Amino acid sequence: MSEKILIVEDEEKIARFVELELSHEGYEVQKAADGREGLALAESGDCDLMLLDIMLPGISGLEVLRRLRKSSALPVIMLTARDAVIDKVSGLDMGADDYITKPFAIEELLARIRVCLRKKPAAALTGPADAILRRGDLTLDPLRHEVRYGDAPVELTGREFSLLQTLLENRNIVLSRDTLLTRVWGYDYMGETNVVDVYVRYLRQKIDDRFGVPVVTTVRGVGYVIKD
Ligand code: CA
Repeated sequence: MSEKILIVEDEEKIARFVELELSHEGYEVQKAADGREGLALAESGDCDLMLLDIMLPGISGLEVLRRLRKSSALPVIMLTARDAVIDKVSGLDMGADDYITKPFAIEELLARIRVCLRKKPAAALTGPADAILRRGDLTLDPLRHEVRYGDAPVELTGREFSLLQTLLENRNIVLSRDTLLTRVWGYDYMGETNVVDVYVRYLRQKIDDRFGVPVVTTVRGVGYVIKD
């Protein structure tokens, strides 16, 4: 049975575009153009994931999320405006599973949806999300804050560690520099965007060069990915 995705978005052009793409991917799609209707549909328990715009007529996306979380763990990906820092922080605090910044590449949205849907049933089986992350001989232990390649410890700074962790958590998903900046450096980072490239270079010196394995792949014009 195909999974059902609820789109709550008042901008008809965006909603329609996403609907077409999702249908094409084999998802069933439901749409709501305001917060009240979206909340009612989400609470009906008939969908597997909600894409929730923040700026909505009626009740806002954040309010929809706040009310929904009283009774439901439905996976929610928020759609936020590029500069709406507060919305992202509040949304994640209120229990959104992920967010994507408008305008977004449809491939990134699809990838985030797949991750979100995969997490849902797997969570109970695989234990907490802070389990050890692996890629070949490379392991990252979020609890002990340790990285190893085989038996050899790899010394990373805090930022390098977060960057590697983010890439490992999103294995096979190409992350843009913007996404990495937001996730690793924070919403309010005001420095140069090439800081991402600089830190990828540090990671490569400490892992790829030292152990002779290509770990981080550059996707030209897009960003970075760690593939299986
Ligand atoms: Ca809107």
